[in-house]
Amino acid sequence: MPALSVEQLRSSFRGELIQPADAAYESARKVYNGMIDKRPHLIARCADVADVIAAVEFGRENNLLTAIRGGGHNGAGLGTCDDGLVIDLSRMRGIRVNPAARAVRVEAGCVWGDVDHATHAFGMATPCGFISTTGVAGLTLGGGIGYLTRRFGLTIDNLLAVDMVLADSRFVTASTEENADLFWAVRGGGGNFGVVTSFEFRLHSVNTVHFGPTFWPLDEAATVLRAWRDFIREAPEEINGFFAFLVIPPAPMFPEALHMKKVCGVVWCCTGSAEQAEECLRPMRTLGHPVFDHVGPAPFPVVQSLFDPLFVPGLQWYWRADNFTDLSEEAIARHVEHGSRLPTMLSTMHLYPVNGAAQRVGRNDTAYSFREALFAEVIVGVDPDPANRETITAWCKDYWDALHPYSAGGAYVNFMMEEGQDRVRATYRDNYDRLAAIKKKYDPNNYFRVNQNIRPAE
Ligand SMILES: Cc1cc2nc3c(=O)[nH]c(=O)nc-3n(C[C@H](O)[C@H](O)[C@H](O)COP(=O)(O)OP(=O)(O)OC[C@H]3O[C@@H](n4cnc5c(N)ncnc54)[C@H](O)[C@@H]3O)c2cc1C
Repeated sequence: MPALSVEQLRSSFRGELIQPADAAYESARKVYNGMIDKRPHLIARCADVADVIAAVEFGRENNLLTAIRGGGHNGAGLGTCDDGLVIDLSRMRGIRVNPAARAVRVEAGCVWGDVDHATHAFGMATPCGFISTTGVAGLTLGGGIGYLTRRFGLTIDNLLAVDMVLADSRFVTASTEENADLFWAVRGGGGNFGVVTSFEFRLHSVNTVHFGPTFWPLDEAATVLRAWRDFIREAPEEINGFFAFLVIPPAPMFPEALHMKKVCGVVWCCTGSAEQAEECLRPMRTLGHPVFDHVGPAPFPVVQSLFDPLFVPGLQWYWRADNFTDLSEEAIARHVEHGSRLPTMLSTMHLYPVNGAAQRVGRNDTAYSFREALFAEVIVGVDPDPANRETITAWCKDYWDALHPYSAGGAYVNFMMEEGQDRVRATYRDNYDRLAAIKKKYDPNNYFRVNQNIRPAE
């Protein structure tokens, strides 16, 4: 007999409790990555903090493996589990912008599109990711890399406070003033320490940005990669531009002759003036023989959602990642070799710049360790067809194997699959032991372990 029955939980629960026999179960158990096929025993879709407290108590007292789900975008599928409890926050979508304080309070079920929409009305934004459908919660707790990273830092560098429900069901606030150890840990340490119910972020004046891609033929990839590496190291912090190998999709914005062509490119986003964008980007945009080039003004939320129609939920998705402090000639050669072999239209490799403001925070100031890295690499095999699962996975692993020897040794935790404890330690480096001590204090029994797990110190 369970210590607490689902019926007992239901009597005080305001959200939905979804079990395998329920009609809603099949859609409720799905996460973004179509490769993940897990069947939880119970999905507790919380309506409010009281529901989260009840769900944590239910999971803990019944000794249930418990996953926390924000936006459901985790590549490894760590927003769900087999036979356990999923604490699903997707109904908790409240947002309150405080324009005078230049801050926004965001409930943990929001996706970034919700936040962009709410803050854009005030001409402001906080650093987020490159796609609007990603969950605020998972992205923030791992670090948060996006178009605003070079200028305003990682998402966690703009986090002011979190409200959380701990493993013992206690509700706490963490900030630099209160529970400062916990606040240090959640800035990069993922979902290891409790269920965050809301986040408070600092806002910046970001409204219309200057955005667009430049694409080059693959035979110019080494030249472009070399030039981009040197350019982005020194560029003003208003300039962002991530490097990619990609297949040009058959979208009306691209000339038909380019559809389905494999290219390399840089996707630009400038938060400065049009003149600054024009002047700073000119040397790169006129390099070699671009096959497509367009940079123009666009509202920030539009930029954030441009890739959404391509990367829809339910695709097969396998990725691997690493951090880099440099790109040597050998590394560039390996990139060109493997990047030229993209196995499907949606497969891609991105190198995100993580310098500028993100590097002004010390490697021990937050749990996120790789502050000296210049580039966060992610190699992504994507396809709608499950029959291509092996192909995209093999390409991704081969590519990663070829580049890993040139890397700084660890990855951005949000771009990892389930790769084992050594990779988790390699990612947190000398922050790991401090994280393990904080884990012991707040979650001594490792109740929250469906994540890139930090084990409680012995
Ligand atoms: C298409 C796509 C684009 C992406 N783009 C970017 C990007 O531009 N920049 C970037 O930095 N990352 C990006 N990511 C990676 C993303 O940050 C991670 O996949 C992240 O885990 C997604 O968060 P989520 O809330 O959607 O995930 P979920 O699957 O819901 O949760 C992932 C994990 O986060 C933890 N978690 C979630 N909610 C909570 C909570 N409320 N309290 C405590 N722990 C919680 C749990 O440990 C959970 O296992 C992208 C991912 C995808 C699939």
